[in-house]
Amino acid sequence: MITDTIAAISTPLGEGGVSTVRISGDDAFMVAEKIFKSKNNKSLSAMAGYTAAFGAVYDGDERLDEAVALVFRAPKSYTGENTVELSVHGGIHLIRRVLRAAVTAGARVAEGGEFTKRAFLNGKMSLTEAESVMSLISAKNDRALNIATRNKQGALSKRINALTEKLLYLVSQISVFSDFPEDDTLFISEDVFKTSLTAILGELTSLIADYDKGRLITEGINTVIVGSPNAGKSTLMNLLSKTQRSIVTSIAGTTRDIVEQTAKVGDYTLLLADTAGIHQTADEVEKIGIEQALQRLETADLCLGVFDSSVDVTDDDKELINRIKDKATLLVLNKNDLQCSGNNYYETLNLPFVKISALTGEGENDLVGAIAELLKLNELDPNAEVLQGERQYNTVLRAKNAVNEALLAINGGVTLDAVGILIDDALSALLELDGKKITTEVANEVFKNFCVGK
Ligand code: GDP
Repeated sequence: MITDTIAAISTPLGEGGVSTVRISGDDAFMVAEKIFKSKNNKSLSAMAGYTAAFGAVYDGDERLDEAVALVFRAPKSYTGENTVELSVHGGIHLIRRVLRAAVTAGARVAEGGEFTKRAFLNGKMSLTEAESVMSLISAKNDRALNIATRNKQGALSKRINALTEKLLYLVSQISVFSDFPEDDTLFISEDVFKTSLTAILGELTSLIADYDKGRLITEGINTVIVGSPNAGKSTLMNLLSKTQRSIVTSIAGTTRDIVEQTAKVGDYTLLLADTAGIHQTADEVEKIGIEQALQRLETADLCLGVFDSSVDVTDDDKELINRIKDKATLLVLNKNDLQCSGNNYYETLNLPFVKISALTGEGENDLVGAIAELLKLNELDPNAEVLQGERQYNTVLRAKNAVNEALLAINGGVTLDAVGILIDDALSALLELDGKKITTEVANEVFKNFCVGK
């Protein structure tokens, strides 16, 4: 069905030990043989799958480098097609020359994600498994890796398949009911139908509920650090990210722009934004910074409100608390190493808080624990199947809404055959989720965001 042969650099473009060009398609062996000569003159097309040959790679008559060619024979390859991987020394110019030679020999440069798209189209993996390949590559922490690995191994596919089977059974019952409405021995009772639909709704609801927690774990927690000038925001940012990117001084108003940093804390990744101190000011530049900080607050997953607990609370602090109290906010009572002013104002607010010293690092673990508790990240079963990406989420949401409507209709007295269309909608959504029923547009959209060479 797909006949042309594609090639791409499959390793990161940089200097390193090895770089690889992957060639896949009907003519993969022919293309590779034009540019690779093995030391013992063995032809690649005569080699068994999963075997390697040592030799050199050429562009025309020009010898580029010594190389190892790894041969995969269809269907036992990543794409399901004949594939050759040519590995040379890791140099940017060198590997580009190898790719160019492969193109001159008849291959076409692959589009982003085209190898994985072929793997999906050739039935080597389901759509959610294909999507998990990108999640594996971009995993930022162990939990994200675990989710991606389980999805790659088909955990999510299995769960979706089980739900699809249940919906298919209900659809078959509806058609029996429509054909022989007078013979109630042929189909399940309305009660059993409702129980089954309620169970499906429960499963879809739990997938939806876990999505946000999974997203925070896999994509990182969008975290905004706010607080009055000198509360210790930059010091906290530097502590968490283990760098000195934010400027720490004792001059109030030092951080005027938003400083961003990624921090791996415990099992989680925080996408930190250190903002200008929020307070009343006449300084025009500072005002812009404060405005930016407030905007960030609107879209953040987590707000760390930093307060200097060694001094008395100010009106600015109280106003800030009013702004952040309805968000997912953790009060970070900083400078706990200093003699406290004795006021416990923050602790009486009925907001989660943690006492730390950003300067000494004391309380850092408590902070991580408090974040996980606030965002309910601990509630996500490490072995749960987790939806990844908006496409998967929206598709399951469509299925859930359809099942919910079907249940409401049955409870409202609508007959089973009349809710069939809603069950069909739910079924279509789940079939689309795993790529069993998918338009070319959806497939293109999914693979468009993959990196070239994957
Ligand atoms: P920001 O304006 O909120 O970003 O505050 P900075 O991080 O620049 O800190 C202001 C001052 O407070 C600096 O002199 C820091 O060294 C100091 N500071 C920050 N955190 C702590 C802390 O936990 N304990 C003590 N003793 N000083 C701190």
